[in-house]
Amino acid sequence: MQYRRVGKNGDEASILGYGCMRFPTKNGKTDMERTEKQIMSAIERGVNYFDTAYLYIGSEAALGSILHKNGVRNKVMIATKIPPYLVNSRKDMESILNTQLERLKTDYIDYYLLHALQDIKGWEKAKANGLMSFLEEMKAKGVIRNIGFSYHGDKNDFKVLIDDYNWDFCQIQYNYIDETNQAGVDGLKYAHSKGIGVAIMEPLRGGSLVGKMPDEIKKIWNKAKVNRSYVDWALRWLWNQPEVGVVLSGMNEESHIEENIKLACEVKPNTITEDEHSIYKEVKETYLRLMKVGCTGCAYCLPCPAGVNIPFCFSYYNSKHLFKNKHLRFQYLMFGGGATGGRNSLASKCIDCGKCEKACPQHIEIRKDLKNVKKEMEPWWSGPLLSIIRGVLKIKRFFTRGKITE
Ligand code: SF4
Ligand code: SF4
Repeated sequence: MQYRRVGKNGDEASILGYGCMRFPTKNGKTDMERTEKQIMSAIERGVNYFDTAYLYIGSEAALGSILHKNGVRNKVMIATKIPPYLVNSRKDMESILNTQLERLKTDYIDYYLLHALQDIKGWEKAKANGLMSFLEEMKAKGVIRNIGFSYHGDKNDFKVLIDDYNWDFCQIQYNYIDETNQAGVDGLKYAHSKGIGVAIMEPLRGGSLVGKMPDEIKKIWNKAKVNRSYVDWALRWLWNQPEVGVVLSGMNEESHIEENIKLACEVKPNTITEDEHSIYKEVKETYLRLMKVGCTGCAYCLPCPAGVNIPFCFSYYNSKHLFKNKHLRFQYLMFGGGATGGRNSLASKCIDCGKCEKACPQHIEIRKDLKNVKKEMEPWWSGPLLSIIRGVLKIKRFFTRGKITE
């Protein structure tokens, strides 16, 4: 494992950090046995940075209990986050921090972030509420070791934020597609030049840079002289830059952990060739041309009061364009329209309330894009057809269970 500095205090974090947003599940709950094996195997192989959040359901408690049970709390650094938009008083701050310490079974947090600062307005509110004074007080007492923020806003606000406080570190969305989006490469270099550690989130852009590739993009990768996996290309691009600190990867499959750790041991900075940079550029331009909506699937926009599964809708819409696959419309209707037993969560259910747009870190015009999804993915006959299928399902349930449950 290779290590780089994150905070100003000289901490050396593994270049691969463990993203704890989604652990493996079993029967709808965290599969603790499998999660423990995965976490312990990563620690044994040198991963020492774990990133969770107050809002990641069940994550802090699962991580805390595994670290405690195995007596390894002091071998790793825990990063967790407080949502500033849920905090209005000192009582709120104390309550959230105490809950986190309890869940994590620890008396200190190594890296404490303001979760998803979007802009200057949110930052001014956090300061006015006394959140920063509270965090400084906790830092002086040793309860928090480093203060930072995670960020999805634009480059200009990012620089203002960096200059306005003595941050120890920050966390930005960054990958070869988002090189100039959000804080981007300029933000990364700016923070680094000020001695602020930069952790990276969304290195695979919610998984869209790996897995099934559109043929057009496959052809570009195939021009490379070396044969690499898509994960390798994506992580290599990040670790090639010395300004990048820890790269957070949400790993809940043993094979992901294996591959990521292997790469984190091998990939050195400043080793990507000119030819390879041209390939990244071509892939990026093609992706941006093929993708309709820049949704990363983070799900911050949920729940929707009308029940729309926003990331689901955008994922099928994007895939239909990326893979030019007409059958995806059918799957979108069947899986999202309640035809396989779930609820109807299609774009057409949107009631235009706008709640989701306030929460989207990518600043997507969700309502406008959902209208396009509806137009393209939900033909006039889909409503009646889905009603018939749902009706048949109800009758089937009636006869199999003896009662209608809906
Ligand atoms: S605007 Fe539409 S999709 Fe967004 S939260 Fe409101 S109803 Fe849901
Ligand atoms: S619409 Fe925005 S908030 Fe919702 S999943 Fe996509 S990127 Fe995330």
